[in-house]
Amino acid sequence: MDLEAFVDFLAYGVTGWNWLEIVVFTLVVTHITIAGVTIYLHRCQAHRAVELHPIVSHFFRFWMWLTTGMVTAEWASIHRKHHAKCETPLDPHSPQVEGLPTVMWQGADLYRLEAKNKETLERYSHGCPDDWIERNLYTKHSAMGVALMMVINVLLMGAAGVAVWAVQMMWIPFFAAGIINGVGHFWGYRNFKSPDASTNILPWGILIGGEELHNNHHSYATSPKLSAKWYEFDIGWAYIRTLQMLGLAKPRALPPAVQVIPAKVEIDAATIQAVLSTKYEQLARLSKAVSKDLNAKTSEMRDSFEAIWAQRSLTLEQAVAALSAWCQQAEASGSAALEQFAKRIRSLHLPQVTA
Ligand SMILES: [Zn+2]
Ligand SMILES: [Zn+2]
Repeated sequence: MDLEAFVDFLAYGVTGWNWLEIVVFTLVVTHITIAGVTIYLHRCQAHRAVELHPIVSHFFRFWMWLTTGMVTAEWASIHRKHHAKCETPLDPHSPQVEGLPTVMWQGADLYRLEAKNKETLERYSHGCPDDWIERNLYTKHSAMGVALMMVINVLLMGAAGVAVWAVQMMWIPFFAAGIINGVGHFWGYRNFKSPDASTNILPWGILIGGEELHNNHHSYATSPKLSAKWYEFDIGWAYIRTLQMLGLAKPRALPPAVQVIPAKVEIDAATIQAVLSTKYEQLARLSKAVSKDLNAKTSEMRDSFEAIWAQRSLTLEQAVAALSAWCQQAEASGSAALEQFAKRIRSLHLPQVTA
């Protein structure tokens, strides 16, 4: 190779791509990384919401190593702890505790700090890969992958490959650790009144793989699908369905669909099952109804409704009795909003799910 050819290679790499081609390449590889985080690390490993074919799960393990340097067991443990200790001082990354700027801009540092916590790993890493390649390469040499990525980028694109690499390295710390863990517990709308501060940042989950729908996720953590309303879109779920059609993924059953039977007035076991399986949705509906007709009585009724479902050991008979009594009270309260809510609660029905 003569000098001119060598300089040319340094400048443009083997592909000689123009800037547009380089931008497309960057968007494709960062999107695959986001897909790996949401499908493999989050839904498959941390929550077991989907089972992936070994080819798919190993591809993503390799890709995470190559483009992020994150270790599966560490990621899954930290995330499971986040759900278990949400918005408390033990939550590894709560903007409600740490403040939004800290989680937004130093989210990756919070992650690295928690990854050093041996107790977190021991307690929460069950079921994560622990085979030869995990121990001897992906975990032991977790930084080697991103170094290899840099070499690949420079070979492909020359000097521009370094800039692409920098973008790749920033993508997850910014979008996952910063936006989802920060903004996703701070700003946005809530479909469900889950006991944490989680929010849906946008109804269309494309850029961050569907993780934008973070309030839906905290409300149904084991659901493989993160969208809940007809106007919401979860691209991660579209990928999982595609993999399923190819025989490469087995998603867990979706949360059961509750029926509304207008003629139904009697509260029975199916009503209780329906309310329990959609608890946070009902709490959100009631809060909304009460906010239209806010006074001491209605807010007390809202709290007493919440208190029924907060009980740890509630038998079916007790639940039927408590909900019946609550609905009678709501209907006699003189508040149209409460009356309507009680009428709707009576009409809920969950068909027996045969496992
Ligand atoms: Zn969260
Ligand atoms: Zn989660």
